[in-house]
Amino acid sequence: MDHTKINLIVRLQHIDNQIESIMSLQKGLPEEISALEEDLAFTARQIEARKRVAEDHQKLRERLNGTIFDCKEKIRSFKEKQTLARNNKEYDALSKQIEYEEKEIAQAEIKLQDISHTEHHSQELQKKGRELIAENRYDEITEEMMPDDVLNQQREDLSQQVNLKKEELDSIVVETAEEITRLREKLASQRTAVTQEAKRLLDKYDHLKSGSMQNAIVKLDRHACSGCNTRVPTNRHTLIVQGGFYVCESCGRIVVHERLFDEASAEG
Ligand SMILES: [Zn+2]
Repeated sequence: MDHTKINLIVRLQHIDNQIESIMSLQKGLPEEISALEEDLAFTARQIEARKRVAEDHQKLRERLNGTIFDCKEKIRSFKEKQTLARNNKEYDALSKQIEYEEKEIAQAEIKLQDISHTEHHSQELQKKGRELIAENRYDEITEEMMPDDVLNQQREDLSQQVNLKKEELDSIVVETAEEITRLREKLASQRTAVTQEAKRLLDKYDHLKSGSMQNAIVKLDRHACSGCNTRVPTNRHTLIVQGGFYVCESCGRIVVHERLFDEASAEG
């Protein structure tokens, strides 16, 4: 039996394993970073929304206080005019105008109270949130209950974590970039070699790997397929030891003697 073909495909798996082991150095960092970034964006949106509400309140408050000031000015001038009124009709007309301005003031004051009430309510909610935090009852805290300072601290912490993880990932990527490029080139040329010499094995390899299976070619380990731990029939052992292969009946992986991996690894 010609074992060159199986050696070629074992070598392909070996290179694949090397790439996989380098990629695993990233330890799920890309996924972790994007999850942290989502949390950060959510927190930032909450802070922004609160800031907008506070700004709107401030603007409204200034406008209402301006209105009140103007009304008072008008009232003052109407009262002055009243002292100079030549008759009751003139005096009464001014009284009506004063009344109107007083109503305007009252309305503005109600609106100012509404703003204060809303702000007080949200402060109360935050107070409640602070109590819940102190008691570690985080699951009971609603978005509104999150105290401003805790929210700001959260944003700071998250942004720090994102930066740290990014730095960590960047340094891993930089450190391994050369090696990954080298291995990918090696993988490509190995594929070319396998395509020419063992197309059917390559098809099987690709088919196995197209699923979630990372390793299509595995070692025989304690008389079992090391991919799924199913025992390999005794009458196949000799063939495997001789450098042949066995297709696992349980998982479909190609089982070879570990020596073949050692040989593939020795090639560099
Ligand atoms: Zn198996």
